[in-house]
Amino acid sequence: MTLVLPFDNSYAQLPPRFYTRQNAVPVREPRLIAWNAPLAAELGIEGGSDRETLARIFAGNEAPEGATPLAQVYAGHQFGGFSPQLGDGRALLLGEVVDSHGRRRDIQLKGSGPTPYSRMGDGRAWLGPVLREYVVSEAMHALGIPTTRALAAVETGERIYRDPGAMPGAVLTRVASSHIRVGTFQYFAARRDAEGLRALYDYTVARHCPQVESPAHLLAEVIRRQARLVAQWLSIGFIHGVMNTDNTSISGETIDYGPCAFMDTYHPQTVYSSIDAHGRYAYDNQAHVIVWNIAQFATALVPLMPDQDAAIEEFTALVHAMPERIEAEWRRVFAAKIGIAEAGEEDAALAGDLLARMAEGRADFTNTFRALIEGGARDQFLDPAAFDAWEARWRARLAREADPEAVMRAANPAFIPRNHRVEQMIEAAVGGDFAPFERLMGVLSHPYDDQPGAADLRRPPAASEVVHATFCGT
Ligand code: AMP
Ligand code: MG
Repeated sequence: MTLVLPFDNSYAQLPPRFYTRQNAVPVREPRLIAWNAPLAAELGIEGGSDRETLARIFAGNEAPEGATPLAQVYAGHQFGGFSPQLGDGRALLLGEVVDSHGRRRDIQLKGSGPTPYSRMGDGRAWLGPVLREYVVSEAMHALGIPTTRALAAVETGERIYRDPGAMPGAVLTRVASSHIRVGTFQYFAARRDAEGLRALYDYTVARHCPQVESPAHLLAEVIRRQARLVAQWLSIGFIHGVMNTDNTSISGETIDYGPCAFMDTYHPQTVYSSIDAHGRYAYDNQAHVIVWNIAQFATALVPLMPDQDAAIEEFTALVHAMPERIEAEWRRVFAAKIGIAEAGEEDAALAGDLLARMAEGRADFTNTFRALIEGGARDQFLDPAAFDAWEARWRARLAREADPEAVMRAANPAFIPRNHRVEQMIEAAVGGDFAPFERLMGVLSHPYDDQPGAADLRRPPAASEVVHATFCGT
């Protein structure tokens, strides 16, 4: 049976300097390891029942009818240093489909072979990062956080060489609202390519926010989306790990799951990424870094404006107002975590005080908040009396709330993809056992439900299981 993807490709119509057209490099022995049938249905993909066809297509061995594979070019600040040219070094946009809700979605292969933008890389990915992105991005979606999705994962039957040694190669198929990044704007701005910048701006507005009427308006819209996104990350203890400007999406989705991780024990300066030596992208810094990234976006938009001095003034005011917006979003999500539907100033202080005690008491982030519903939160603290003092004030505040339990149930997941479980799942998969992957996917697809049979997946790691560092997908 042939697979039908209803492609309707618009990025490929942009000027040729936006990308390089090329096909994926075929792999030796593609084998399908995961297929997201509900997502495929949403995308209008038909005929996805033959695993061999799926394996061939989503390994890149066969281009599906209507695809116009291309590697997108972009630039970006990586750990604060500017690279004027990056681009898809191991990814190819197959094309776009318009989904059942009328939304245009990119379908992209990741790990599909070298491109002109590969620099020193081999263009490939190994099974570990592919499964990590599959599990974590789908978990983020189930948690209610804007994110790219995972449609398929295929093993290549080839070995690739990484730090751990010769590892099984894999290709991930990623679905995104688009792959336009802050770095895409930076690419054209850095080259003083005014026409390219204008074409990108027009394309972005038409695709993501047709109501937008000016670059300032687009900036304000991206600020709104990113402020909300980062507050949502903070609310579930998520650490992205590589918040470079090329990994900051204009659509407001979480993109690029490299060394990302969820915190177990709460501490605001938690870092997992092995390449983030100075903690630039630590948990708490994410709210500052996003403002820095948005300032780079604003800078890239300036050449679009006829009066640049006026533009700089206007954009600066917008960027300077962003921290306040993040704070408002933070207050909203953290108030909900402690059962408060409409947050006031003093509620932010109440939530902040709990976090300070959690850091001091080495409390587990996810389990402490969930235990506010279920009871037993005090047992999460080294010194339970620290919680008791807070609890008395909290209970007094909750007396003014209509249904705090319902608010907390929607804000405090029972399940997150804990690092040690993700690592154990990868280790099993490398050994050929995909049962832990399937189980994680099943449980994480409804993370706010009690699932008594999966209590083991709620436990923090034992001392021997703690993951101290996560590695980039490269
Ligand atoms: P990342 O940190 O994953 O966002 O990647 C930064 C840049 O490096 C992107 O342009 C990637 O396409 C490129 N890259 C990462 N891994 C590889 C690889 N194995 N081969 C070629 N390019 C890569
Ligand atoms: Mg990236």
